[in-house]
Amino acid sequence: MLLEDLDTHCPVHGNPLNDGVVMISYGLFRYSEAFNKAHRYLFPKSKFMVRGGCAVNDEIIYHMRYCNACRRAHLLWAAENKSNEGLPHLADEFERILHLRFGMENSVTNVPPDVHDLMHAHNLVDALKLLQRANPGVEIPELRAHMRYLSRGAELEQAILAMRMGGPQLVYEQLAALAERSGKDELQERFVGN
Ligand SMILES: [Zn+2]
Repeated sequence: MLLEDLDTHCPVHGNPLNDGVVMISYGLFRYSEAFNKAHRYLFPKSKFMVRGGCAVNDEIIYHMRYCNACRRAHLLWAAENKSNEGLPHLADEFERILHLRFGMENSVTNVPPDVHDLMHAHNLVDALKLLQRANPGVEIPELRAHMRYLSRGAELEQAILAMRMGGPQLVYEQLAALAERSGKDELQERFVGN
C-alpha cells in the first residue's frame, strides 16, 4: 500500500474506509496494555469513539473514517477478552451523557413554549422569570443552567439523530443478529446489555 492511501484505506486490511460519526468522549481513559497492542496491530481503524481529552469543549460528534473489518476484529477481540474497552455508547446512554454535559437539570420539569420564543428573541430575563414561575422551588442557578441547555437544543437533537442514524452503536444491533445466528447468547447479553 502507498503512504498516500493511508487517509482512505485501512493500513491493516487495505480496504477503503467508510464515512461515519462518533461521539467525542472527554475525560481520562486508561486502556490495558493488551487493548492498546490489539488496537494498534489488529484494528487501528475501528474508531468506535474518539477521545477529546480532559478539557470538555463544545464539540459533540466527530466525523471520521472507519474500517468495517477493523470493527469486526475489535468486537471479536472484545468478546474473546471479555472487555468493553474502546467500544461505543448505546444511543440512549449517548443522550443521557449529552444531557448531563450540557446542563439539563432534571429539577426543571416544565418548559412553557413561550420560554423558547423569549430566548429566541434574546429576552433572557423574561425567559428566566417565566421558567421560574413554571418551576416553583427550583433555584435560579439551576434554571440558568437549564436555559444554557435549551439554547443548544436544536444542535443536541441533531447530534442525537446523527448518532441514531449512523453512529457506531448500530454495530450492537449487527452483533445481536450475529449472536442469534450463532446461538451465542452470552455474547449477545454482554454487548446488548452493555
Ligand atoms: Zn481495518
